[in-house]
Order: sequence, then C-alpha cells, then structure tokens
Amino acid sequence: MNQTPKKIAVLGAGLVGSLLSILLARRGHKVSLYEKRPDLRVSKWEDGRTINLAMSERGWRALRLVGLEKAAKEFAIPMRGRMMHDPAGNLTFQPYGTNGECIYSVSRSLLNRMLMNLAEEEGGVDLHFEHKCTGVDLPNATVQVTDLRTKATATVQSDFIFGSDGAFSAIRTAMMRHNRFNYEQHFVEHGYKELTIPARPDGTWALDKHALHIWPRGHFMLIALPNPDGTFTCTLFFPFEGKPSFQSIRTQEDLLRFFGQTFPDVLPLMPGLAEEYFSNPTASLVTVRCWPWVYQHRAVLIGDAAHAVVPFYGQGMNAGFEDCVVLDGLLAGHGDDWPALLDAYQRSRKPDADAIADLALQNFVEMRDKVADPGFLLRKKIEAHIHRQHPDLWTPLYTMIAFTNTPYAEAQAIGRKQDAIMDRVMAVPGIEHAWQTLDYEPFLTQHHMVH
Ligand SMILES: Cc1cc2nc3c(=O)[nH]c(=O)nc-3n(C[C@H](O)[C@H](O)[C@H](O)COP(=O)(O)OP(=O)(O)OC[C@H]3O[C@@H](n4cnc5c(N)ncnc54)[C@H](O)[C@@H]3O)c2cc1C
Repeated sequence: MNQTPKKIAVLGAGLVGSLLSILLARRGHKVSLYEKRPDLRVSKWEDGRTINLAMSERGWRALRLVGLEKAAKEFAIPMRGRMMHDPAGNLTFQPYGTNGECIYSVSRSLLNRMLMNLAEEEGGVDLHFEHKCTGVDLPNATVQVTDLRTKATATVQSDFIFGSDGAFSAIRTAMMRHNRFNYEQHFVEHGYKELTIPARPDGTWALDKHALHIWPRGHFMLIALPNPDGTFTCTLFFPFEGKPSFQSIRTQEDLLRFFGQTFPDVLPLMPGLAEEYFSNPTASLVTVRCWPWVYQHRAVLIGDAAHAVVPFYGQGMNAGFEDCVVLDGLLAGHGDDWPALLDAYQRSRKPDADAIADLALQNFVEMRDKVADPGFLLRKKIEAHIHRQHPDLWTPLYTMIAFTNTPYAEAQAIGRKQDAIMDRVMAVPGIEHAWQTLDYEPFLTQHHMVH
C-alpha cells in the first residue's frame, strides 16, 4: 500500500537510526537524520563504544532487507560456539547451533558506515552530524537541534519524530514529562572495560578466531571476540565495588597479580594490559523499560531508546534491527493510517523487548558461572540431542533467539516449558551415562510438547 510522503526527523545515527532512515526513505519519505557526534566516516569516534558486536539471524534479516547482508558478511567473522577457558587454561568448546550455525563478530563502525552510506546515497537522507537534539516539543513534533560547531540552534518541524538516540534518549526524556508515561531503568552492579589481545607478529589470531572466548569466573567474566585485523577485543565484566572489583584493583601490581591468578592463559597475550586497563573507560550496563513508545502518533521510540538491554545475549542491536523490520512491514500494510500502524508497532514489539531484557539478564549468570559447570554442559548436550531426535518438537532457546525469527516472547515461553522438562530429565538416576539411549518422548508428552 502506498503512503503519502511525510517529513520525518530521525534523532541518532547509530546502527538503528541509520537503518531506519533507509527504510523510511525507501517508502518515499523525506528523512533528516541528526547525530550529535562527528561523521564516523571521516573521523573516528573515540568514546568507549564497543568495537565489535555479535550479529545473529535477526540482524542479518534486517541487512538482507536493505541489500547489505552480502557486503557485511565480507568483514564478519563466524563464531561457531563458546570456547571456555578454565583457571588452569583448559579449553572446553560448546557449539552454538545443533547444525553448525554461527553467530558473527562484526565491526560496529564498519557496519554503521555502511548503513550511513546507503542512507545518503540511495535514500537521499539528509545527514546532519554534530547536530545535537537539545529540545523537544512533542505535541508539535518539533525538535531543537544545536550545531555543536557553531552553537547555532535551529527548530525542525516534522510530521513525525523517531527517537533512535540510544539508552539515554532525549526524545524519551521529553516523553517522561508527560502524563502516564512509565519508565524504569536498572543498572547491574557490574561495569565493563574493553581490552585488547593483539595479533601475533605474523598477523594471525592468538586464539581460535572462530569462537567467542569466555573466561567464566563465577561472579565475573572476561570475553573475547575476534576482529578482522588479527586482534581480539576483550571485555571484562566486573563488579564496580567489592573484592575483586574495579575499585579493589588500584595499581599495576594489583592488576598483574589478579590477571596472573585469574586469567593465567590471557596475561601473556596482553602486553598492553596495564596501559589499557588504566586508560580505557569503565562503563555501566543498563536495562531500560518504558511505555508507551509512541506519543500522540507523532513521536516514536526505537532501538535502545525504547528498550536498552544488557549485552549478555548479544541481542541489543539485533532487537533494534528487528524493530525496524517490523515497522517496515507495517508501513507497507497500513497506507496512510499512521495512528494504527504506530500503535501496531509498539504493541507488537513491547512484549518481545521485555522478553529479551529478561533473557539477557539471565544469560549473564549462565555465561559467567554456569558454563563452567559440567552438569550444565551435559544439560545443553542433552537438549541438542533431543533437538536432533525431535527437531519439530524441540528447538533449544539459544537457537530460537540467535538463529530464528521466532518472537522473543514466544521463545521465552517455550524456553520455560523446556526448563521444566530438563529439570526432570536431569533428575533421572545415572543420566550422565543414560542420556544417549533414554526415551524422551514421555517427557515431551507430559509437558504437551507433543500435540
Ligand atoms: C558492552 C556492550 C556490548 C554489546 N554487544 C552487543 C552484541 O554483541 N550484539 C548486539 O546485538 N548488541 C550488542 N550491544 C547492544 C548494542 O550496542 C545496542 O543495542 C545498539 O548499539 C543500539 O543501537 P541504537 O542505534 O538504538 O543506539 P546507539 O547505538 O546508542 O545510537 C544512538 C545514537 O544517537 C546519538 N545521540 C544520542 N543522543 C543524541 C542527541 N541528543 N542528539 C543527536 N544524537 C544523539 C548517539 O551519538 C548515537 O550515535 C552491546 C552493548 C554493549 C554496551
């Protein structure tokens, strides 16, 4: 269904705002995109944002929609599973998929640049860098943007405003001043810091590049994702306070002792550890939930602005991209009935955003603690076995989230049923020996997994 062209202001040219602008422009709308930072295609952003991200099916689906999947796969590195490093340096590999599926390590800035280029070249989107949204008049769909170079402020009037301005969104802050807007933000007690494992002298990777490496240590963890240049970007997820914590490690000596005892196989791979540790920022991790996402059918939240989640399922960007795909489908189907399409957008996405927020918090415990437990790994192996035996009845939760487009809320509900079944399976005496020959059908029947 065709739409009458509208004037649309998109705030925030991160991953989601750039993708959204392409989709809106393709539907014939006149899109102006405002970004407070300089153009990353000409100047590098140095603000402690993650260097790489894990991309999975939902993200690829969005890139497919705009014709960028192939180009992005060229710089993406497939990761086939988790490689766990125990304190003695022993490795255990746990595949992500049951049929060889991979998630991909993708450079945030390359992906963002690619999306900006497409928005500008093909979509005719007007990109305004170093333009910060400094005021919002929601009822009139008007934003104030300040040119950070000249300090000049302009008033931009549009038919619609999309707030893709991230976890600390200015558009959302404006919505909060209005009646009946619900808002909740929650910081976990851990922060994160990025560190680097450089390439070997011959330019190759110091660890297996086709895995996401994890050093699970109970209350905290270190992870590493590969980059195309032979390096790994590591992220230390660590408590802000307590022992050990960012606060308790004060000197180079503290740091080297701690890494030597806790991550002995990494220390020799990180010659610049102390310098990076004490100069790189320590950032916090927030979950944001709010409702509604649409104000008077004129202003709309999308991506992290609507639903920031902690990064432990590797789904924040994937979820934001899925918002865009869902919205695009509704733009196609609703013609000029914007109130109906925007309402359908927020009602469709909110339960899924809540589900992935919960799952991401739960997965922190799984990654930092449970993956080091042989009982947990056996449980995952059995689940994969059931999936192979009954592929139409059982798809593991991780597979549903990372490798399908099953709505997050539906996947979460199925995952709960599966958990109940797995609790009973794991209670079978001698399960560690019997799992390959056990008949799982009675378990599935009892929990109505068999129809
Ligand atoms: C440590 C960490 C690891 C992560 N790993 C993954 C992962 O592996 N996989 C995954 O899918 N997701 C991951 N995420 C989540 C992912 O980074 C976010 O979900 C994603 O960046 C959201 O994109 P966005 O465009 O909505 O917001 P952002 O990327 O935050 O972009 C918002 C943009 O708006 C701009 N802006 C803000 N305020 C204004 C203003 N007032 N005026 C103008 N412009 C403004 C900002 O400069 C920014 O460019 C991770 C997040 C973190 C913190």
